[in-house]
Amino acid sequence: MLVIEDPEDSALVRQLKRDVVHLSDVIGERNLSRVQSLNEAADWIEQRFSAMGLRADRHTFDCHGIACHNIVVERRGETHPDQIVVVGAHYDSAPGTPAANDNGTGVAALLSLAEALKEFQPARTLRWVAFTNEEPPYFQTRDRMGSWVYARDCRHRGDQIVAVISLETMGYFSDRPGSQRYPPPLAARYPDTGNFIAFVGNPASRALVERVHREFQRHSNCPAEFGCFDESLPGVGWSDHWSFWQEGYVGLMVTDTAPFRYPHYHQPTDTADKIDFARFGAVVEGLRPVVHMLCAADE
Ligand SMILES: [Zn+2]
Repeated sequence: MLVIEDPEDSALVRQLKRDVVHLSDVIGERNLSRVQSLNEAADWIEQRFSAMGLRADRHTFDCHGIACHNIVVERRGETHPDQIVVVGAHYDSAPGTPAANDNGTGVAALLSLAEALKEFQPARTLRWVAFTNEEPPYFQTRDRMGSWVYARDCRHRGDQIVAVISLETMGYFSDRPGSQRYPPPLAARYPDTGNFIAFVGNPASRALVERVHREFQRHSNCPAEFGCFDESLPGVGWSDHWSFWQEGYVGLMVTDTAPFRYPHYHQPTDTADKIDFARFGAVVEGLRPVVHMLCAADE
């Protein structure tokens, strides 16, 4: 087992648990088939940011005549404001699931990091973004998938985004040998026990992925793996980082590998009791110095 003295009971872990339970049990399934719940999730995220003293803006677009919202908090960089770091997580759910792990955990991690770093003055501009419409039927659809609409608008504005971190399904771990699966060519190169967190990028993002993995390992004893693959390999592009790749930016996904490990992926059984909050907390703690590092200016 991992780190910290009483991991189940730390303030960090308790807050992560409250947030995941709120999204999955109180709000539940949240997508355009359940617009009221999707909007409730957006309002709640905005309120959570605002309770931290962070002002959230809505990046709104139309989908089938319904207003959809990405929720954006920007912390303007002190010395290098034109260089932008985006940390994001989708808050919608696939149809038919309360989506505790996918992606209640990503949103809880986003809020936790934003809170932990709220007093920190970044050199670069830091944006916390909660994305909508990541899940099917909007996944990888132009003008519909929240992160793609957002990334495209960034590109059109000429935003110089230097790194994107997508927080995606991060809370399920297993110590059982054989609990980890892979798309076919990868099984020989990686562990077969699903007890690690993964940093996944494309070839263009290799330098970023290696740097993030190294920094994470310096600060966390949660096992971590990383890899850069073509986006055609199943799973590699299955989150919001993919959208930024389409617009020419570098980025990566932080994940427990979702369907390659988690038996409840996109199921009605994706509930908060499946999450290992102690290990999830250790991952979130290890990500704080990573965001801190990315927000420092290199030159
Ligand atoms: Zn997801």
